[in-house]
Amino acid sequence: NAPLLTVRDLKVAYRTSAGEAFAVDGVSFNLAPGEFLGIVGESGCGKSTMAKAVLGLLPTNARIAAGSVQLRGQELVGLSTRAWRRLRWKEIALVPQSAMNGFDPVYTVEAQLDEAMAAHSSAGPAARRERMGEMFDLVGIDRRRLSDYPHQFSGGMRQRAMIAMAMVLDPQLVVADEPTTGLDVIVQDQIIQRIRRIQREQHKTMLLITHDMALVAENCDRIVVMYAGQVMEAGREAVFRTPFHPYTLGLCNAFPDLDDRDRELIAIPGVPPNLVSPPPGCRFAPRCPFATDVCRRKAPPLVSVGPDHQAACHHVTRVADMRERARLPAT
Ligand code: ATP
Ligand code: MG
Repeated sequence: NAPLLTVRDLKVAYRTSAGEAFAVDGVSFNLAPGEFLGIVGESGCGKSTMAKAVLGLLPTNARIAAGSVQLRGQELVGLSTRAWRRLRWKEIALVPQSAMNGFDPVYTVEAQLDEAMAAHSSAGPAARRERMGEMFDLVGIDRRRLSDYPHQFSGGMRQRAMIAMAMVLDPQLVVADEPTTGLDVIVQDQIIQRIRRIQREQHKTMLLITHDMALVAENCDRIVVMYAGQVMEAGREAVFRTPFHPYTLGLCNAFPDLDDRDRELIAIPGVPPNLVSPPPGCRFAPRCPFATDVCRRKAPPLVSVGPDHQAACHHVTRVADMRERARLPAT
């Protein structure tokens, strides 16, 4: 089963006044067709930068310093603006963060969906109208509300309309970057359930980006845990059931109660490192209770710790012992 998306040793640097910041620094992962992959990590760890590199949406002060991003074997790094215009929406689509979703307040939702469709497909007005109706059915909004203006929708409805927008040209890959941030928890759950259902029913391949480990644990087939621009741990449900990286352990200990989602999610002391001059060894070492000299000297490689499960830590055995003794709360 050939992967749909292959990211290999990707490095993305931002020019800043303090020097180059490597927000993504050697990230690799595969995404199989029909898979739902979650990328999880604290604020600033490079999740959105990674997503923007995959979508060809990096700002002008960013450069891809190394690596490769391939969609069904086609290299996306270095594609021209024109080539990107052909790919975006039709092959790869984005569901943006809800707090800054992409609707223009002065046009109806229908006008905006229609514009995207008219620009990227040869379908005539009647076919486009039917397709927009189908998409509203899919996301659970009454078709009659297509002619509404964005402000006539609630926040949750606007975000569902953004999902409709992302799906309207039937892309193979859908990237959702914090799609529920800023919505209340009930609406968050509804949106994620909806995304999950669409992903299954329409056999879509999805990349969900979030800082919420519980969200990923409940919904994704596979998980990539990022920290300071690098992959700390990756795999299936073993990542949150039996984590091998202290950072993942930290994220899991901060597992929120389903009844108490407002609780502080991340309870790891300290802050992520400066990405212009990151620590020489393991980037998590300054915050890690397991860290020893070797961690401060040498960056640990990502090694196999189980079937389809990798972690980048010098002390995976000690972490596993500790985890067993502490007996993580079951999810
Ligand atoms: P969040 O959870 O807050 O969305 P994130 O994981 O998506 O965080 P990114 O937005 O990718 O993180 O940012 C990664 C790093 O790159 C951060 O240190 C951030 O300050 C820096 N960064 C992001 N955008 C730019 C930019 N346009 N110019 C310079 N630095 C940037
Ligand atoms: Mg982000």
